[in-house]
Amino acid sequence: MSGLMTVVSLSYLVSAACYVIGLHMMRTPKTARNGNRLSSVGMFLAVIMTFIVALVKHQASAMGWILLIVALVIGVGYGVYKARTVKMTDMPQLVSLFNAVGGGAAAAIGTFDYLSKPNGASLAFAFSFPVILDLVIGSVTFSGSLIATGKLSGHVSGKPISFPGAKLLNGLVVLLILGSIVLTVGFPTNVWTLVLAIVASLVFGILMTIPIGGADMPVVVSLLNAFTGLAVAMAGFVIDNQVLIIAGALVGAAGTILTLQMAAAMNRSVANIIAGGFGTGDSGGTATDDVPVNVKETSADDIGVQLAYAKNVMIIPGYGLAAAQAQHEVAELAKLLTDNGINVNYAIHPVAGRMPGHMNVLLAEVNVPYDQMKQLEEANSMFENTDVSLVIGANDVTNPAARKPNTAISGMPILDVDKSKSVVVIKRSMSTGYAGIQNELFSDDQTSMFFSDAKKGLQDIIAATKEYLDQ
Ligand code: NDP
Repeated sequence: MSGLMTVVSLSYLVSAACYVIGLHMMRTPKTARNGNRLSSVGMFLAVIMTFIVALVKHQASAMGWILLIVALVIGVGYGVYKARTVKMTDMPQLVSLFNAVGGGAAAAIGTFDYLSKPNGASLAFAFSFPVILDLVIGSVTFSGSLIATGKLSGHVSGKPISFPGAKLLNGLVVLLILGSIVLTVGFPTNVWTLVLAIVASLVFGILMTIPIGGADMPVVVSLLNAFTGLAVAMAGFVIDNQVLIIAGALVGAAGTILTLQMAAAMNRSVANIIAGGFGTGDSGGTATDDVPVNVKETSADDIGVQLAYAKNVMIIPGYGLAAAQAQHEVAELAKLLTDNGINVNYAIHPVAGRMPGHMNVLLAEVNVPYDQMKQLEEANSMFENTDVSLVIGANDVTNPAARKPNTAISGMPILDVDKSKSVVVIKRSMSTGYAGIQNELFSDDQTSMFFSDAKKGLQDIIAATKEYLDQ
């Protein structure tokens, strides 16, 4: 090994160590930011070393270098701009877009490397197999993540989109993909099998994501994230780049663990999802779409009285809290209550918000003590002794429709808010949540609605509560 390649290999090792330690640091909010920084340093080092290798080994023509630099400037510029300006509520679609870019880039690497082999050269299994897997997984991730981005941003309907014969078509496309894998490995010099694999995989990515509605979406987003990692790892095998293999394997492993956790939290089977049962089964019906809802309205003043005389209060944050950026107000209200001897806890549903851990991130930002954040099971064991449940911008995660068959969220475990003595829901209107179905909780006897933006509503509630607490 030349001196340069020794330095490059050692640098890649340092990069890989940065990713692993960085990922480890991301397990708690306290060290997560530094973990992210460390991982970025590792990635920066890997990119610089890749450039040095290309330069020293004359791997690109003058035109190639111009294209590379222009692409790099555009990519880095867009990435930095987007990451700095993205609203917290738009984060899920940005992550999904990054998944698409990662999968697409991995597929492009595989295609380029395959096509750059001399025509008619006999290609070993150890090359053709990772190439075809890279192309298939990368292409599925690319088109699937673009559809997921559209669904999360509202450009594509969030409801399940299905059509007659969808399952048959899915099966046919899977057969085509399997066929193209076998043919590429058997006849690696025939470029048309590669074209077939790319087209079939792009179609499969679309078919697999459009029928996803409501409750299944978080599972699919994390599954696509795992796919991105796998595709990148395969691209690493194709071009024999260790750092790409390690980075891809880490993303693949982390994404797979997250997928399993999200699927368990949603009571969904990953096997069913991977087999192409997307959006079927529990997601199919919309039986409660038109449930007539007669609701009681309440005021900040009335909520202030309830809170001031409560012993145990549970706060249920949801997407609307993030949309309103009301985390500071919620923490201020909780502090006001705890300072006056009232027990306050937060019930965190695993899919509340629009990305895994969304509520934990929001609440950690305002230093909510971890022991007050109760996960689903623990929170559910506490509702019977809760005097007031304050549901802030949450909807689907509290919807009792999940306990019935044939609704868009059937089978999803929910927060049993309806078991508490009194429920106050803060939201702006009777609009539905992400799953698009009405919530019977809102018309329960013990529930009252406070129609307001979460931030403004909480400010009014804080002012009212202070009066009753004599602050
Ligand atoms: P929902 O989407 O069910 O409901 C959010 C509610 O917030 C809406 O009904 C809306 O009502 C209200 N709202 C919006 N803006 C404001 C505001 N400014 N002030 C007050 N209220 C507001 O959210 P949940 O958190 O309960 O559930 C999450 C849903 O998202 C689940 O269906 C989940 O499957 C899905 N999902 C989750 C992902 C994840 O990874 N966590 C990823 C993708 C989807 P109104 O307009 O009347 O104010």
